[in-house]
This record gives sequence, structure tokens and C-alpha cells, in this order.
Amino acid sequence: MSKKIFVVAAHPDDEILGCGGTIMRHVSAGDRVRVMILAEGVTSRDETRQAERRSNELNQLHRATEQVAEFMGVESVTLCDFPDNRMDGVQLLDVIKKVEFEIDRFEPTVVYTHHAGDVNVDHRAAHEAVVTACRPMPGMSVREILFFETLSSTEWQMPEAGKIFCPNVYVDIEAFIDRKLEALRFYESEMRAYPHSRSYEATKILAQRRGFTVGHLYAEAFMLGRLIRDERSIAVVPPMWGGCDLSTADGFAFDPPLELIEFEETA
Ligand SMILES: [Zn+2]
Repeated sequence: MSKKIFVVAAHPDDEILGCGGTIMRHVSAGDRVRVMILAEGVTSRDETRQAERRSNELNQLHRATEQVAEFMGVESVTLCDFPDNRMDGVQLLDVIKKVEFEIDRFEPTVVYTHHAGDVNVDHRAAHEAVVTACRPMPGMSVREILFFETLSSTEWQMPEAGKIFCPNVYVDIEAFIDRKLEALRFYESEMRAYPHSRSYEATKILAQRRGFTVGHLYAEAFMLGRLIRDERSIAVVPPMWGGCDLSTADGFAFDPPLELIEFEETA
């Protein structure tokens, strides 16, 4: 059964670097994927933010984000305009509200976002906002939160930061590694020459390293933030059964147990 997947990234290109292969794997499995990008990009290249002066570049970058979303089969991408690399100057509540709005609207069961220990301040803001927006109150749809690594940020953190990326969830992306690299070409302006870690070569090497760690050729790695297994995680929604998605939150679909269906029908 189709699951609803929500990816919250700080910048255009983070969604691909962090979980591009996994997004395409979800899409190929029939899952619905939506992406949200919080910061506008580009404007951090100036001493002070001058979005109007950079409007052409911003438009190009945002167009690239929409194109790459289409390329991957993502059903929608929401572009916010928080200031690039200056999100430490934004009220966190403003970010949380935006994320909450999208979660309320889409009701995803799985959410991917940045790791808490990234060097990049916008990544950390995204992480904090998502964790708060996904707090597990009654009625919250999210059953699973996963944190991805982002080359040129996650691996650049210092040990004393205390929040080192230690993955414990791996997604086999052998079938999608070439398309992940192709997707990054939409963000050519953001990529650098190897051995910069935000390069095509380093992206492939990281996927190999994450892959062979778990006996695969290529993988993307995540840290599990929270996984809730309960009747809500057993899905929702074949419309004929009154709106209950019968996929699980941890990636294993199974046939709907008859008792569950009867329970949903009579509840
Ligand atoms: Zn970023």
C-alpha cells in the first residue's frame, strides 16, 4: 500500500544529497513523496542578504528544484524563503509553523530531515523544527522520523559538538545511484570539483561506503529519530476501507489483517 513520505531539507540540493536515492526508491514502490525546502539558497554569497539582486539566480535554482522533483517523481515541492545560511536569525517558531502546516495538510507517516549535528546552521534549524513539528501528540500522523547526512556539512562537524552521525538505518540504492547522480546535475551550480565532498565523485564514494557497510553496493544511511509501531502505523487508506493506509511505518507492507478491517469498519 502507498505510504506518504515527507522530506524537509534546508537548501535546494540537500534533498538529493541526503536521500535522493531513497526518495526514488519510495516513488518506485508507489509511495507518495512531498518535499519542502526551507531556505531560499544563494543569498548567503553576499555580505548582507540581497534577494532582489540575486533574483535571477534564485529563480533558476528554484526552477531546478521543481525540475528535479519532477525527474524523481515527487508529487510536490514547497519552496520557502527563509534566508540562506542565516536561519539562526529566524524565530524557530516561524519555521516550525511552516513545517506543521505541511504535515497537517499531507499527514505523512514517514519524515526525513537533517541530522542535528551538521555544521550548517540552517540544517540544524530544519532538524529542530521538524522534531518539534512531529512531536507525538494524539492524532499525529508521523510514525517514523529519519535523519540523513549531507555531504559538506555532516562530515565537517567537530568531535566536541557531541552529535556525531552514527547511522543505524540503511537503504539499498543500487538501482538508483546513477539517477541520484543525474538528479544532482540539476544543481550543477551547487556542485564542486573532487576532492570537495560536495562533488559527484564523493557522493558516489559515500554511497559505496554506506553500501558495503551492510553488504550492498550502494546505500544511503540514516539515523533513526523515532519509530512508533501501533495501529496508526499499520497504515491508512484503501478508500474502499474508509480511509485506512495499510502500509507499515517501517517499510514492510503486508496484507490487511481481516480483524483490523472489521475493526475499522465498525469503529
Ligand atoms: Zn544545505
